[in-house]
Formats: sequence, structure tokens, C-alpha cells
Amino acid sequence: MAFGSPDVRDFKLTSVEDYEPLIGPEAVDRILRKARALDDLHVLNVNSTYYGGGVAELLTSLTLLMNSAGVQTGWRVLQGRPDFFSVTKKMHNALQGGDFNMTELKSQIYEEVNFENAVRNHFDHDVVIVHDPQPLPLIRHYRRKAPWIWRCHVDLSQPHPELWAYMRPLVEAYDAVVLSLPEYAQDLETPQRFIFPAIDPFASTNKPLSEAEIDERLAHYQIPSDLPLVVQVSRFDRWKDPHGVIDAYKLARTQVDCRLVLVGNVATDDPEGQAVFASLCECADERIIILSVQDSALVNALQRRAAVVLQKSLREGFGLTVAEAMWKGAAVIGGRAGGIRHQIDDGVNGFLVSSIEEAADRIVQLLQDRDLAARLGAAAKGSVRERFLMTRLMEQWFDLIGAFETDFKLKGAVQA
Ligand code: UDP
Repeated sequence: MAFGSPDVRDFKLTSVEDYEPLIGPEAVDRILRKARALDDLHVLNVNSTYYGGGVAELLTSLTLLMNSAGVQTGWRVLQGRPDFFSVTKKMHNALQGGDFNMTELKSQIYEEVNFENAVRNHFDHDVVIVHDPQPLPLIRHYRRKAPWIWRCHVDLSQPHPELWAYMRPLVEAYDAVVLSLPEYAQDLETPQRFIFPAIDPFASTNKPLSEAEIDERLAHYQIPSDLPLVVQVSRFDRWKDPHGVIDAYKLARTQVDCRLVLVGNVATDDPEGQAVFASLCECADERIIILSVQDSALVNALQRRAAVVLQKSLREGFGLTVAEAMWKGAAVIGGRAGGIRHQIDDGVNGFLVSSIEEAADRIVQLLQDRDLAARLGAAAKGSVRERFLMTRLMEQWFDLIGAFETDFKLKGAVQA
């Protein structure tokens, strides 16, 4: 194990104790007690990218926090060819309700890449957590010595029936399924649990920034601060509705002067991002700034400086960007979709919208009534502290891992 060696002694991991001012000493003690009960286990996470998107963001923080709490936790990434990620992105879209045509060739590419990865990766862990559809078939290729959990992060409210019929036997090979929301529950033999994702307040995306640091980041990307900023931060993905954001902004701009900044990145497992980015660039003008960069300090600075943050998704498994902006006290307008509806209590700690026109009206309202924006933002910060911090997520994982019997069955009822 690397830490403790002289070369790295100056690095410090975020610990559960660092959360004490946010969650209180009792919660810290309780979580550490649960961690001690699991300190002989080796937990493995498998997903399909180290970079870009909420799953990578979550695993970056969660794996370190679990290790710092004393539960050995690893992370492996599936190696895939471009045609594999093209198939799995289509699957991702279809799980969220898009069209799909299952062909022999698609299943061949999908299953072959998983087989090759299984050959290369020797798992000898006590718990294996497989994230999202890309590595789902891995389970077929192992003689299982541990519980395997499928953790699906996408909006499963309307999965494509033909695709789901194909995936269902693969899903049912697992010992448990974890979904983000109860409304994503499926008709499955496998027990299902529901766990909201969470944010890391100490990560560079979320840590406190001074006004000077915010100025510096915005200046670095030539983002002027002369007008109020309307901001959306998202992977370049059609479900995030970036064109709807531009249309809503253009409507709002007829009433209030403001600037739109759309910042996005392209995950390594998402081959569609470049085309979405290119189509958005055609809409850029002197008041519409479109940036494709991976800079979490910029995300942080924009969410802090924004007069309004949008997350106008049409489908959204959870939407970490919503919690991130709310944590910073931003006034957030979210699409009435998936996990956003669980984070925003409409009119209390943000606004929910179902159309471009509604989004435009809320932008205008928030830009004209800064007291309202401040009130919603303050409530937003409180709700993230109560419900969406990484320690809560880690504790739920500890509870779930601790609930497996020796035969890999989960104690308790089938539905959480
Ligand atoms: N993100 C980022 N840079 C970007 C766009 C997104 O760092 O340009 C981060 C964002 O801060 C969040 C994650 O990527 O932590 C996106 O997670 P979310 O759940 O919102 O959406 P997903 O991409 O998983 O659909």
C-alpha cells in the first residue's frame, strides 16, 4: 500500500473527520464504526471512464474517502474500442428512452469487449461494484467468490423495452442492483436498493474559492463579468438540452441583459460529445460563450459567480451539477426530470421547469429579483448539507455491503 511511504507523506486524504463541522461528531463516530466492521474487506469498483461525467467524479472522491476510513477500495476501468463506446452510448441513450435497434453486431461488440476485459482483469475482491451498462456483462466470465452489485446511474424511468429484455438476464446475474431513485425500479428477481449520489465539498469542483480566485479563472478563459452570468455546466449530451438552454437564454435576453456560458467536457466513453459541441458552436455570439474544457476550478468559479445556474436536462439519472451549484448557494433552474426533481423543491430551494418558455421566465425573474435568488440559494445550500454529502453516500454503501450474508443474499426485504 502506497500511503505511509516517505515520498508521499505530505499528501493528505480527505477524512471522515474533516466532515465533522458539516455533519456533526455523532455522524462521524457512527460512520467510522461502520467502516471498522468492514476493514477486512477489499471492495472493487468497475466503470468505463476515469474522466468525464458524474460516475468518474463520484468514484474519484468515494474511493479515496473509503480508503481513508480504512475500507480498501479499488477502481478499474474497462478498456474499450471506439465501436464499443459507440454501441454503449446508444445503449445509454436507449435506457433513457431513446430509439434502439439491437443487432447481432452490436451484441457481439458489446460482449466481446467485456470478455476481453474479463480475461485481463483478475478480481479477487470481497465485493465487486459494476457501474452502468458498459461493464455489465463482465459478471458472466468470473467464477464468483463475492457479492456482485450492479450500480446503474442512468435515468431508468422509461428504458427501451427490447434493450431492457436483452439486458435483464445480465442484470439478474447480480446479487443486488442499486439505482438512484425509487421510480427507476424494474421488475427484477434481483433485490433493488435506491441510493442518491452525493458531492465532495472538499474536491476542487466544490471547495471554497476567494473572489480573486474566481476572477482569475474567469479571466483565464476570457469570460467577462460585466453582465450577469447564466451558466450551464454539462457533458455535451442531448439529454442535457443545451440547445434548449440557448433558446431559453435568447428569450430571456429580450427582457434582461445577461451573458450565457455553456461549459462542457467530453467523456472518454462518450463518442457523441464532439458533434453536440460542434452544433453548439454554431450558436455562439458575443454574449453566448461555449467552452469545451476539463477544468474543475472553472466549474467551481462559474457556479459561484453565476447569477443563475441552469441544468435544463430532459432526462437525468441524478444530476451532480445541480447539487454542486446548490452547495455554492446558487439559484438553480432545473429541468423537471429524474434526480433533479429530488434535489429541487420548486420555489423553495430552486425552480423546476418543463419548457423553454418556463426556463426563460425563471431566468428573467431571478435576474430581476436578487433577494429571491439569494433566498433560494441559501435554502439550496442547507438541503445539500443535509442530504447530498459524500459521507451519507459512503455510509449507505457500508450498510449495503454489511447486509450481505455469506451466501451473497441481502438481509432484509427485497425492496429498500
Ligand atoms: N463536469 C466537469 N466539467 C464539465 C462538465 C461536467 O467537471 O465541463 C463535472 C460536473 O462538475 C459533475 C460531473 O462532471 O461533477 C457531471 O455529473 P452529472 O451527474 O451532472 O452528469 P453526467 O455527466 O454524469 O450525466
